Amino acid sequence: MKSSQPNGKNGHSSSSGPSDKATGLRKLFENELKDIYWAEKALLKAIPKMAKKATADDLVTALQGHLSETEGQVKRLEQVFESIGTKAVAKKCEAMDGLIKEAEEIMEETAEGVVRDAGIISAAQKVEHYEIATYGTLCAFAKTLGEEDAVSLLQETLDEEKEADQKLSSIAESFINTEAADEEHEEHDDEVPVMRKKK
Ligand code: FE
Ligand code: ZN
Ligand code: FE
Ligand code: FE
Repeated sequence: MKSSQPNGKNGHSSSSGPSDKATGLRKLFENELKDIYWAEKALLKAIPKMAKKATADDLVTALQGHLSETEGQVKRLEQVFESIGTKAVAKKCEAMDGLIKEAEEIMEETAEGVVRDAGIISAAQKVEHYEIATYGTLCAFAKTLGEEDAVSLLQETLDEEKEADQKLSSIAESFINTEAADEEHEEHDDEVPVMRKKK
């Protein structure tokens, strides 16, 4: 364990004196921030693709709404970096990269309509859950490190992610899953699932 830390490296050395443990946590905090910064930026490209492939109006609207929230979240992360005196740098998030790849796979493998919509919701909720876990952790780390500005910024985003997740749940419950199941019963012998809407 090394305890050598350049003075005022980030202008936020705690007055109580950072222990090795706190220094390690700060490094971890910064790395996780870089990870989610990459992830949010990747989502700026991925969400529009999902919205384009979705057909249910409320799903398209929810995705578009969350896209603009995500733009705000990227800026908010830049404020977090600034508040802790660290340059905003993105570091590839392998987990989000994988989740986005799975989303693309789902969209390729499903027929357009309610089934693909259900797949998009499932992929989007995995993304939201990853973000909720990440921002929850980041909030806790920021609290422990005494970074109060970061805590409130990260909490704001955490709340948005939770809301996005709940919205997706209610869309799934109220519409898509029921309809997808109905159509599957009606057309169970067809090779291609759910290509047309009956209305
Ligand atoms: Fe986000
Ligand atoms: Zn990650
Ligand atoms: Fe998986
Ligand atoms: Fe999100």
